[in-house]
Amino acid sequence: MSDETNQSENTATAKPRKRRIIRRLIFFVLVGLFLFLLPVISETYFKCAICAMRQTEQRVTGAGFLISSWERPTPSSDWYQANIEPEHDHVWVRGGYAEGLNCFGRTAAMWQDSSLSTGPYSWLPLSRDKQIRIYQKSPDPQQARAMFLQLAHHEPDGSKAYAAQQEIIRRLDAWIRSDMEAPWPFEKF
Ligand SMILES: [Zn+2]
Repeated sequence: MSDETNQSENTATAKPRKRRIIRRLIFFVLVGLFLFLLPVISETYFKCAICAMRQTEQRVTGAGFLISSWERPTPSSDWYQANIEPEHDHVWVRGGYAEGLNCFGRTAAMWQDSSLSTGPYSWLPLSRDKQIRIYQKSPDPQQARAMFLQLAHHEPDGSKAYAAQQEIIRRLDAWIRSDMEAPWPFEKF
């Protein structure tokens, strides 16, 4: 066999091998991308309507099985426990924001949807120490507690309870905007 024939045979076998390597490379890149972009875990965030403690839940996306959940005390929940009630059953209200995590535990998706929220309490602007100050400024902390609880679940649109919730939010919002200096806006509700 001449040198020329050998060379052409080598070139002929090298080409399919090269193609195979490229195909495998593309396959692994696609699988990697898929694993990286697929939000296999849904993470949702809750806040207790009474004390503002935080809770995070991780579930299998789509199937909904609970993987894990954990609570996180906040300055507000610590203060509430020390000053109002040493113990209570938390009333968890889910917020309108959720994240999807990939199998490496990294954020792969973010969702902001009001349908995720389970109560208007989650929309209240209660960052930092606002919930503590509302308790402190209210004539009776039990009244403030009842007000927060009234906002812990969505009432049906058009119902009396829904209208009452809207009124609470309207008054509370105006009162918070006065830096809580205006008189307490609730007699009873
Ligand atoms: Zn609580």
